Amino acid sequence: MNHQILRLQPGLHFVATPIGTARDITLRALDILASADVIAAEDTRSMRRLLEIHGVPLGDRPLVSYHDHSGAKGREKLLSLLAEGKSVAYASEAGTPLIADPGFHLSKEAQEAGHTVTSAPGPSAIITALTLAGLPTDAFFFAGFLPNAKGARRSALEAVKDVPGTLVFYESPKRVGEMLRDAARVLGGQRAAVVCRELTKKFEEVRRGTLEGLATDIDGALRGEIVVLIDRSSGEDVAEGDIEEALRGALENMSVRDAADSVAKAFGVNKRKIYQLALTLSAKK
Ligand code: SAM
Repeated sequence: MNHQILRLQPGLHFVATPIGTARDITLRALDILASADVIAAEDTRSMRRLLEIHGVPLGDRPLVSYHDHSGAKGREKLLSLLAEGKSVAYASEAGTPLIADPGFHLSKEAQEAGHTVTSAPGPSAIITALTLAGLPTDAFFFAGFLPNAKGARRSALEAVKDVPGTLVFYESPKRVGEMLRDAARVLGGQRAAVVCRELTKKFEEVRRGTLEGLATDIDGALRGEIVVLIDRSSGEDVAEGDIEEALRGALENMSVRDAADSVAKAFGVNKRKIYQLALTLSAKK
């Protein structure tokens, strides 16, 4: 037996589940699933399978289906169980609840009603992809799924063009080629990018290249589940005037080194080059 029966606090307990390999479940997640008065799941069939695989008996405990889109009614049911003092474990179909998955409204309303809310952390495709991609992880922006319509997708890409961090997207295997072509057009074809497919599964694959190169290679649909990561702008498309203006502002209340560091990070440009410019500007002050 891999789990222990806990004296679980009344409240809502979010549980992360594997994104491919069943043994990626954590021991704490199993303990919570084994101990909660009620289990709620986005997909009750996958929850039953997970419990079976890990030998966690459901017994006569209720297994309730809940999706944020099931609306206020589904939520009311869980909130009334919480109000009765029950412990409710909630898992989405795979990975971490609330991350491109249901749970946000439930979490918010449970907190507003004064219930205890906890989370047993575990797998998420975002973190797994960042770990493997080989792109900087000091700062990243998770943009979720882009819109399907071309115009809306390009506008959404435009909106994240200058984010000073690695961009992370979830994408459908059917649309990944199209998405890469739009990203090359809006963000510049030379940006480094990575396509992660089927993470933690048998056919796990990580393809690295430039947006242009990957867009050319991937011209049809892929199979499986996909995360696309894109490096921040290299700064070549950043106007010198904008950098100078930002540096002048930063030098008002920072040392040369701190100003150079902060501006280089914000624009995603070479620190040494900015430092020289910061020295020159500060000498002219
Ligand atoms: N809650 C999940 C998490 O924490 O990652 C995400 C759920 S979202 C509905 C599903 C999307 O996540 C997929 O379309 C894919 O973009 C990404 N994803 C999930 N599992 C994956 C895997 N094993 N490999 C690559 N991408 C994955």
